[in-house]
Amino acid sequence: MVKKVDKGNTEVYSYERHHFYLDSNAGKQVCANCGLIALRNKASEWCVEKGCLHKLHPSYSLTMKKLTRQFEW
Ligand SMILES: [Zn+2]
Repeated sequence: MVKKVDKGNTEVYSYERHHFYLDSNAGKQVCANCGLIALRNKASEWCVEKGCLHKLHPSYSLTMKKLTRQFEW
């Protein structure tokens, strides 16, 4: 799951607000942009807070490691 970031890659982190809608099948809030499912756990709250580009956040992998120690992501 580790992605190499090439120099010159234009993907840099910036805050993009999620666009949540209620997925009636899952009964959960799902983001229409990035597909993030809003769960009640710290990892997911962090992703919600950081917006749609949370995966590009510099501390994403570190934070996920810390917050998801107890379960597989
Ligand atoms: Zn999103």
